[in-house]
This record gives sequence, C-alpha cells and structure tokens, in this order.
Amino acid sequence: MIEAERQGALDAIGSEVAVCTRCRLHETRTRSVPGEGSAATEVVFVGEGPGFNEDRLGRPFVGQAGELLTKLLESVQWTREDVFITNVVKCRPPGNRDPEPEEIAACAPFLSRQLEALDPALVVTLGRFSMARFNPGARIGQVHGTFQPADPASGAPRALTYAMYHPAAALHQGSLKATLFRDMEGVPVALLQARERRVAGTGPPGQDAVQIEVATPLVEAPAEDVSTNSVEADSARPSALEAGHTGESAVAAQSIELTSQTDLTDQLTLF
Ligand code: URA
Repeated sequence: MIEAERQGALDAIGSEVAVCTRCRLHETRTRSVPGEGSAATEVVFVGEGPGFNEDRLGRPFVGQAGELLTKLLESVQWTREDVFITNVVKCRPPGNRDPEPEEIAACAPFLSRQLEALDPALVVTLGRFSMARFNPGARIGQVHGTFQPADPASGAPRALTYAMYHPAAALHQGSLKATLFRDMEGVPVALLQARERRVAGTGPPGQDAVQIEVATPLVEAPAEDVSTNSVEADSARPSALEAGHTGESAVAAQSIELTSQTDLTDQLTLF
C-alpha cells in the first residue's frame, strides 16, 4: 500500500470509530479517539484507552500522560508526527477505569485494521492491556524494555513488539519515570532489529524476549540523556523506508540515506 492508500484506510477506520456503538463505552463518550500520526511510519505506539482530555478532544495522549509520552519521544529525537499513536479501546472508560474484556474484544478489529493498513515494523505497547494484545501471558514487570515478535492475531504479523510501562504509571509512581526513559532508549534499537528482521524475511514468532542493554546511564533530563547517541537515534527515525513503505517525505529520504544494510549492522554494534 502506498502512503495515500494507508491514509485512506486509516481515515475510513476513523469514520467508523466515530459512530461506533459496538460496546457500551459509546454511551458515555464525548468523542471517540481513533488515533493519529504518520501513515507512512514504521512505528506504532499503542496505549490503553482515552482519558478525560482525550475524550474531550478526540485525540490520543493529550493529557499529562501524553505530555510524558511526547517527552519520551523527544528523548530519542522523535516527534509525535513521526509515529502513529492509538489505543486498545477507542472510547473512554468512565472514570478512567480499566477496559473490560468485552470492550477490548469489541474494539479489537479497529486496532487490527489500523495495523494492517500501517504494517509497522515495530509496535510499542504502553501498559499491560496493550502488551496483552500483542504478547498474551507476558508480565509487564518482566518484559518491559524487551522486544519479541508480535502475535500474528494482533494484525501486525511482521512486526516486533517492544513493551513499556504506561506513562500514566509514572505519574502515580515516580520511580517508574526513570525506567520509562531508560526503556525508551531501547526503542530505536528495537526498530533497527525490526528492520533487519524484515529484510531477512524472518518467519513466524517463536523466539524468546530479547533484553536490550542500553549504553547510557539513567539521567532524569531526557534531552541530555541522548545527546551522545544522536547519530544512532537519527539513523533509526521511524519513517517510511524499505520494508515495503514508499513515502517520499524529506525525513524518509534522509532515513533511507542513513540506513543501508551495512549501516544498519554498524549501528547495531554501537549499542
Ligand atoms: N492513556 C491512554 O492509554 N491513552 C490515551 O490516549 C491517553 C491516556
């Protein structure tokens, strides 16, 4: 699919989500929140479900958790526009309660179709509900900061998934903030792995979780955190590239220039 077709598919899903009545969450929503971002991206971030602010604005991650997500992206020199951001459920659970299994099941086809349209190399799961969708049975305390092949039933059979805690968890438990920033350092590394896997045409899932060792120490300030890694992070911008993506933005051209197979191998050894 070319970028315009991806965008068309995403828009069509968004229109359906806007009027969806498949579960009871539609009764209490103000606006549904299909997701937003680049249709040409290689990386999709999947959260749990909209909160108060998202429900008002119809956009994902625009409250406090969203501010932290934006900072996490900035810490690896990415922006919200570089990636696609969505949720497991597209309407706010009242009072921000956990989504119920039947609500997740009712909404699942929307996320699957978004993933089929985007065909991402990497899906970053934010929190346990998102992780469960891609790696059923995994425990977030054990697998955060690691990547593994996505469950093919997720809609992203060619993707790796990378598990992170939900940004909102760090708002309640301050110590998780450092963990989130450290895990975020592993996301561009996981993207490089995901690209390699695609080029190699690696088959169905089966490998164990791979723990990423990040080279930089824990530092609270995200901008300084990655200053020495800027070349590596740049080289793994989540743009439209090989892997069947055909976007033609300046960013994509820059990334293609930076990510020949030889470069990819070189970069991986730097981490
Ligand atoms: N939390 C989520 O999981 N998703 C949002 O969009 C906002 C907060």
